[in-house]
Amino acid sequence: MSDLSNRHLPNSLGFATRAIHHGYDPQAHLGSLNPPVFLTSTYAFDSAAEGAARFAGEAEGFIYGRVGNPTVAVLERRLAELEGGEAALATSSGVGALTALVWTLLASGDEIVADQMLYGCTFGLFEHHLPRFGIRVRFADLTDPAGLEAALSPATRMVFTETPSNPNMRVVDIAAIAAITRRAGALFVVDNTYCTPYLQRPLELGADIVTHSATKYLGGHGDLLAGAVVASQEIIDRLRFTGIKELNGACISAFDAFLILRGLKTLTLRMDRHSATAAKLARDLEAHPAVAAVYYPGLDSHPQHALAQRQMRQMGGMIALELKGGLPAGRALMDNVKIATRAVSLGDAETLIQHPASMTHATYDPDERARHGFTDGLIRISVGLEDYEDLRGDLLGAL
Ligand SMILES: *Cc1c(COP(=O)(O)O)cnc(C)c1O
Repeated sequence: MSDLSNRHLPNSLGFATRAIHHGYDPQAHLGSLNPPVFLTSTYAFDSAAEGAARFAGEAEGFIYGRVGNPTVAVLERRLAELEGGEAALATSSGVGALTALVWTLLASGDEIVADQMLYGCTFGLFEHHLPRFGIRVRFADLTDPAGLEAALSPATRMVFTETPSNPNMRVVDIAAIAAITRRAGALFVVDNTYCTPYLQRPLELGADIVTHSATKYLGGHGDLLAGAVVASQEIIDRLRFTGIKELNGACISAFDAFLILRGLKTLTLRMDRHSATAAKLARDLEAHPAVAAVYYPGLDSHPQHALAQRQMRQMGGMIALELKGGLPAGRALMDNVKIATRAVSLGDAETLIQHPASMTHATYDPDERARHGFTDGLIRISVGLEDYEDLRGDLLGAL
């Protein structure tokens, strides 16, 4: 892939500096402060031989939009840098990143061990669809490393977790799970959507692959869908030239890549604010008499509070809670809020409130919800960037 506009910064520089500058040199583009949006599906070759050489991987340069674009390449360099990985692949959605991963790296007969609590569509892919392709997924409680040991088999090729998990905020010890996975000769994949690399860097803790729904905090403004994978150059090349090129075609548009690059400029500011407001709201909600439980890793009451403090820079903007009145009370809370918006997705400037069992996690049937350990009454809040006092008034007033 051509590196025309690359700009390597010393990685002694801080995260915010690299999130704003890494991987793009304005001087290579007529001084344009922002990366140009290359709206092109294909790329001209100098000669027949040169085109053939690009296809053979013997010459640098873009070939076709499904496998690369200069604007997208800036985003990929930046994400790789921020996650501490060799290379990245940007995709058209988070689910597009996950299907590229499993369809490229796994084959019939292989097994995945996954944490018992996953984003609803990841669960749907793993539990309901991969078995049709001969891939078995065993679910385990990865908050306990012994849970992984028990679920491993000679066919395990991949271990998969979110942390904190969507929706109920379980925290998995990345370094501990990485060590066991490595001994088993499998690849450890962490979906880092909830944290972003600013709050948590799984590769530095021993994970092999990081995935993202860039729809959420990385984009940060609720105006696009996108995903990403960060891993070794070898894995990313396979995902790009097999997974995206020939299997799922989930390539990102240059314009969406541009919007994510714009979002990344304020990632640190936004995550600081999301985390600070969520930490205060979690305490307010926990103290309210109508609330049965609040799941937020920053609370002393969270079972993995100490681990979260070691593993994450801040505790993030996601809160889950259960009301004493169960599901009817949760529905009433959702119907009573005036500033929080009733919507799925997360990581936006707007505070979003939703009911996982009937919305994002409706892919789990009632039995599966019970087996995988989350209840019908759970309400999920993505704490936005509004004023804390206004959100406090809105949520406590609605209770
Ligand atoms: C939203 C989400 C996804 C799926 O991403 P899309 O961009 O919606 O396809 C995957 N994992 C987690 C943790 C998510 O929150």
